[in-house]
Amino acid sequence: MLGGGQLGRMFGQAARRSGFGFVVFGDQSDSPAGQIADHTFSAEFLDEDALKQFAAIVDVVSYEQENIPVRTVEVLQQYVPVYPGPALLKASQNRLLEKTALRSIGIPTADFLRITSAEELTEGVRSFGGDGILKTVTLGYDGKGQARVRSQQDMAALWSQFKTSEAILEKVVDFQFELSIVASRFGNGECRFYSPSVNHHLNHILDVSISPSPLISARQIRDAQQMAQGILEHFEVIGVLCVEFFATRDGGLVVNEIAPRPHNSGHLTMDACRSSQFEQQFRAICGLPSGDVKQQSPAVMMNLLGDHLMNATPERWASVFELPGVFVHMYGKAEARIGRKMGHLNVLAGTVEEAEAIGHEARRRLGFMSSR
Ligand code: AMP
Repeated sequence: MLGGGQLGRMFGQAARRSGFGFVVFGDQSDSPAGQIADHTFSAEFLDEDALKQFAAIVDVVSYEQENIPVRTVEVLQQYVPVYPGPALLKASQNRLLEKTALRSIGIPTADFLRITSAEELTEGVRSFGGDGILKTVTLGYDGKGQARVRSQQDMAALWSQFKTSEAILEKVVDFQFELSIVASRFGNGECRFYSPSVNHHLNHILDVSISPSPLISARQIRDAQQMAQGILEHFEVIGVLCVEFFATRDGGLVVNEIAPRPHNSGHLTMDACRSSQFEQQFRAICGLPSGDVKQQSPAVMMNLLGDHLMNATPERWASVFELPGVFVHMYGKAEARIGRKMGHLNVLAGTVEEAEAIGHEARRRLGFMSSR
């Protein structure tokens, strides 16, 4: 696994359960994934000698984050299969490439313009009716590297703050809610889809995912599956990806972005489905058949950020473990910081409303004062 974060950890947990060995490259041995790995290569992603040594002891490679250099995958591919390959990785690292590729296969995205100067920004915002969202082309996540722009603003000042030679200006999508779908594709071309979830963000960070959601129509489920399949096939993916959408007020879907890996909004599959998104990932990359992705119960995933855990004590934790249908997943991170993803709760119940209420109660029991 390239990367030692929580997505690598949960992949490792799934793979280990079925007896696979698990090696991490590119992080420390006490990283979330490193803690459960057979071995960690604490090396730079462009250290070709270390990559060669890593390739020599593994049979197949995947990645758990999109900010690894494409070159790393290209080097490894000389020795060992890497799934998904560099094409999807490249597109998901660059918002311009990603949206251009999506448009080329007929998938709707927000209207966008490439911006390379304050003049282009001024003109672009004007052409979008005086409003837009300016984003860095690479390395943006959880709302970082983006700004809402209105025509009365000082474009020269804003552009210089961005400190980049290339950015993307997106038209603001008037959406009703946000949803995502996690999908997997296997060596024989077979594609599988989880039930899409509705996602609520707080401070630009995913807070709650709900599945199945009464907000999502049958047509939107079908459209989400079709678009995800189009993307899986276009990039010839073997593995797992997540597509995030805006649900527009006319009942349509617009793709916001693609994650070339399992996704935070798919964590509820760990307890609500027989085969989780991480199990699908190791099955796909190891040439095994798909597991059962049908959801067995209404489920809600709630993230536990540093914010939620500031007042947690062993007694408070014990009271969370008392709650029915609550599954605690922690990532083994030593230091809780505001906004840092420390773990999540999956809650299963008879209805998603009930599950959400239990999830909020769990966070309250940890000592978190909810604003809701
Ligand atoms: P991103 O980092 O691109 O996923 O953006 C973070 C969040 O900003 C999204 O989840 C949306 O809530 C909002 N957002 C981003 N792009 C747009 C857009 N073109 N129109 C409306 N809202 C957006």
